[in-house]
Amino acid sequence: MIIILNQKATEAKLNELVQSFHAQGLDTHVSQGSHTTIVGLIGDTTVLDIDNLKSADFVDDVKRVSEPYKKANRKMHPNDSMIKVTDDVTIGSGIFNVIAGPCSVETEEQIIGVAEDVKKSGATLLRGGAFKPRTSPYSFQGLGGDGLKLLLEAKKATGLPIVTELMNLDNIDMFADVDVIQIGARNMQNFDLLKEVGKSSKPILLKRGLANTIEEWLMSAEYIMAGGNENVILCERGIRTFETSTRNTLDISAIPMLKKLTHLPVIIDPSHATGLSWMVAPLAKTAVAADADGLMIEVHNDPPKALCDGAQSLNPVQFDELMQDIKRRVEFEGKRFGK
Ligand code: PEP
Ligand code: MN
Repeated sequence: MIIILNQKATEAKLNELVQSFHAQGLDTHVSQGSHTTIVGLIGDTTVLDIDNLKSADFVDDVKRVSEPYKKANRKMHPNDSMIKVTDDVTIGSGIFNVIAGPCSVETEEQIIGVAEDVKKSGATLLRGGAFKPRTSPYSFQGLGGDGLKLLLEAKKATGLPIVTELMNLDNIDMFADVDVIQIGARNMQNFDLLKEVGKSSKPILLKRGLANTIEEWLMSAEYIMAGGNENVILCERGIRTFETSTRNTLDISAIPMLKKLTHLPVIIDPSHATGLSWMVAPLAKTAVAADADGLMIEVHNDPPKALCDGAQSLNPVQFDELMQDIKRRVEFEGKRFGK
């Protein structure tokens, strides 16, 4: 349920109202705008008398939120969320970010070299997998803890914040110096993992599951937010369809749909969406035009020799070329890079 307050709602009246909801066992979410304040209620609101609430002169309206996701719902928080990653990097609400780096961290030389290259081209965050969810148990599984250490060295060398995937909740303590925790497509509905990262205060990059609806995806975001962590970034990475010429099918329409339904930032991963390096640039440009808040792109120093996802990886020269183009388009859309 949301309570829309008008300008007669003083700080004292707002506090009194919020306290009364808490006393009835409800959780509140207050969103203050310049003209109206919205109080979102989470919990069993059936006990509340809507007419009674509406009778207060500082209450404009009371509406039930029918969607099952509450904290992620734009009705609860009409303005776009801005997710602060570091003092220098913020995601969402007109600030565009490009997260780039290899699918997997392979060697010190590789990750530091790629980090320096993508930074020069304008990437604002570095990605690299240490724990990799691979379809085959015989494929390279990532360097694990050693990969995390190398990523942290690349962070030290370049100053770029790092994004990496957490697959197992037992490993969360190893992620203390990671800036953004990725929850991969295959774990989008790993509810125990979602609850665990809900206890963290770090931004969570939540990738869409291979065959999940937007509502299921937002319910997964809700799991994290319900745990107290509202720093969720959604990442569309392609969904399963009947089409086999691309690895997945990029759901561009998810961007405007999510913008309508939620206040959370939306980024696009054209690399996993297509599996084809030559298709990354056209889809990245499309994502900018469709109002995405950022991109996540796989970049490898030597894609044919990559231990994971080489076919969809750009080399640093291709990435640089794309970035010069993307920067112009982001500016055209009236957005800024990184900060
Ligand atoms: C990745 O980002 O390298 C990855 C494994 O992505 P996804 O979970 O989207 O397949
Ligand atoms: Mn990958």
